[in-house]
Amino acid sequence: MFDLEKVREDFPILARKVYDRPLVYLDNAATTQKPRQVVEAMVDEYYNVNANVHRGVHYLSQQATDLHEASRERVRAFIHARSTSEIVFTRGTTEAINLLAYSFGEALVHEGDEIVVSTMEHHSNIVPWQMLCQRKGARLKVIPMREDGALDLEAYASLLTARTRLVSCTQVSNVLGEVNPVEEIVRIAHEHGVPVLVDAAQSVPHIEVDVQQMDCDFLAFSGHKVYGPTGVGVLYGKETWLDRLPPYQGGGEMIQTVTFEKTTFNGLPYKFEAGTPDYVATHALACALDYVTALGIENIHEHERQLTQYALEQMRQVEGLHIFGTPQAAVISFQVQRGGHIIHHLDMGTLLDRLGIAVRTGHHCAEPLMHRLGIEGTVRASFALYNTRKEVDALVAGIRRVAQMF
Ligand code: PLP
Repeated sequence: MFDLEKVREDFPILARKVYDRPLVYLDNAATTQKPRQVVEAMVDEYYNVNANVHRGVHYLSQQATDLHEASRERVRAFIHARSTSEIVFTRGTTEAINLLAYSFGEALVHEGDEIVVSTMEHHSNIVPWQMLCQRKGARLKVIPMREDGALDLEAYASLLTARTRLVSCTQVSNVLGEVNPVEEIVRIAHEHGVPVLVDAAQSVPHIEVDVQQMDCDFLAFSGHKVYGPTGVGVLYGKETWLDRLPPYQGGGEMIQTVTFEKTTFNGLPYKFEAGTPDYVATHALACALDYVTALGIENIHEHERQLTQYALEQMRQVEGLHIFGTPQAAVISFQVQRGGHIIHHLDMGTLLDRLGIAVRTGHHCAEPLMHRLGIEGTVRASFALYNTRKEVDALVAGIRRVAQMF
């Protein structure tokens, strides 16, 4: 599919050691490592182009603006949006959801209205809606989850009422690796005339995301989870929706004219982009998407699918190891039981770390899901395009070694 060893050379950090052991980086759902192509693009822009965008008549400003706007087009093509007017740059998924919760909420949510989220949401896709509900006297409703980790779609359909204003649901669970049937979720919502926001933070790095095919009304993702820099993300919104919504923050860029009496706002997408954008990060994000595209998102998906399958097979052979849900994406959450006791996720994570293996432990910013599972936390291994079977072997050997200590 692609030359894994060659690809790994693009990521210098993968060659480093921790505690004098080769780094095995399996915390990719938290953030991915960056290829040279992305880092070098940032260094090059700061060294050779840097100027504020959209404001200057001078050469550098125009060049920086061209790079920034070309990045918007790159994002549009990557997620198959109709127009660059539908691509709003944000600081990340969290800011994209907060933007929508504020803007959509101010305009369209009133006392007694309802917002629907699912049991397996990241806090970023719960708290902004909860805050909105508190502001407006609206109600948050939750799509239940079945024992196997899938969302209960029948229950979901029955949650929708004439008061439902929006459904916001993750495409891939950052804890369970569950891939939710977002097209179906959107179809059911649209039957009730309800728009849908898809949290694509954990899907954009792993599977082809096509907003038109999905027919979602909004979608959010973060650059840093798809090999891009921190501090940049995207809110996609159908133009017809974004047109109806008020600005999120006020400031430069988002205005057309300002007097002390009145301000008129800029068109899409700038209406939602107050202040100087992180134009170096947007360009670097485009480079990251180019990197992914050059390898082929289908190839990345297939590589990660095989690796996850392999990891599941190996992990299932470890005595006392329990895997949560039915992982279909590159995320595996587990606990290990020894001598009738569960090895605390923090102990497992800390001891794996001493072996050079970086995993995530805890509630993974999904406390309500932990409550549903009746646990405090898990150990989570999450894979990226550069992970290898050898690294999975190291993880499994590490788990066995830690388990023996208990
Ligand atoms: N949504 C999901 C499903 C996530 O996994 C994450 C991050 O882990 C977020 C939202 C928040 O992303 P960010 O912190 O980049 O805004």
